[in-house]
Amino acid sequence: MDIFEKTKGFTRAKDALRDGYYPYFRPLDHTEGTTVIVNGKHMVMAGSNNYVGLTTHPHVRKAAIEAIEKYGTGCTGSRFLNGTLQIHIDLERRLAAYIGKEAALCFSTGYQTNLGTISALVGRKDVAIVDKDDHASIVDGCRFAMGTMKRFRHNDMDHLKYTLESVKDADGILVIVDGVYSMEGDIAPLPEIITLCKRYGARLMVDDAHSLGVLGGGHGTAAHFGVVDEVDLIMGTFSKSFASIGGVIAGDEQVIHYIQHHARPMIFSASMAPPNVATVLACLDVLESEPHWIERLWENAKYMHDGFRRLGLNTGASQTPIIPVIIGDDFRTIGVWMGLWEEGVYTNPVVEPAVAPGGQRLRTSYMATHTREQLDWVLRGFEVVGKRTGLIA
Ligand code: PMP
Repeated sequence: MDIFEKTKGFTRAKDALRDGYYPYFRPLDHTEGTTVIVNGKHMVMAGSNNYVGLTTHPHVRKAAIEAIEKYGTGCTGSRFLNGTLQIHIDLERRLAAYIGKEAALCFSTGYQTNLGTISALVGRKDVAIVDKDDHASIVDGCRFAMGTMKRFRHNDMDHLKYTLESVKDADGILVIVDGVYSMEGDIAPLPEIITLCKRYGARLMVDDAHSLGVLGGGHGTAAHFGVVDEVDLIMGTFSKSFASIGGVIAGDEQVIHYIQHHARPMIFSASMAPPNVATVLACLDVLESEPHWIERLWENAKYMHDGFRRLGLNTGASQTPIIPVIIGDDFRTIGVWMGLWEEGVYTNPVVEPAVAPGGQRLRTSYMATHTREQLDWVLRGFEVVGKRTGLIA
């Protein structure tokens, strides 16, 4: 059979495109962080991961431009051979200090960071234990690794204990959780997880993609709980609060050194481009010298939590600037998303299989740089569309 045969039967996306309700891959003509223009339409962005709003900060923009002027646009090689610049090393030192670990190692994306770290560590006789809501890059890292993957129910400590107990004859165990869950906006209970990891001799890795720049004064989930020394590995991405692209793993020097020499996505892929590195360095400057941005982020998050509560909308277990509005049905979720789009509010629809049946939602998220007027615009949009669609009584 022709290997392309399967592509002919895949019509779902094209059907949705033809009927005008396809929500994905929509190009933005222009973005200034909190506002975007799509097809000439001005919208308030309530669906980005640009939590601190640094993609447009003057110091950050300038640093990226200057890096291109100094080093050119790309490194054209892997870190392993010709793709390491002094600014890569400077960035790793700065990040290790910021996160509170001995050493740090940068990859070209967060996805590669998880793939590289997990596959380097979880060998044939090892076991990785992951939360069922962990990011796809963690699951893919476990698939890429030679060891076994086991999953426990989301944030369910009894089930984590049961899963740890069920491991027999493994050489080593790595528990991997997200610090903040990207679809729910809730936080992993690190103190309880640490207690269990210690009891069963497991190591702990936390994916702080949505926590760096957000929780613990920007330093992440472990800092939020005051347990930085007890989390073995802290991972982060630069595609969110750090206004760039790339990823980092931080931990003890010996472990990072091992990952550096065993992670295939580090060795066989080109390094972060100079403007991307300079952007992250500049974001660290801003996070350290202008702490009011993180305060503003949390004020805005609280304003939206209160606003949604007043409207009677279901925001699940969210405790952070990621606030899902749970709708519970594919068709209705797309309907509300389209209504909001017409009202000039940009949100992200999340339907099956990305969430379990009943959990279909609009994922909204807020930034330090949103103005009160923009947040009111979002709430007004939800009120109008919510009443029209019966989501609000
Ligand atoms: N981990 C989590 C929790 C994420 O949400 C993401 C990106 N959405 C990643 C890892 C991958 O990061 P990147 O976009 O830098 O590849």
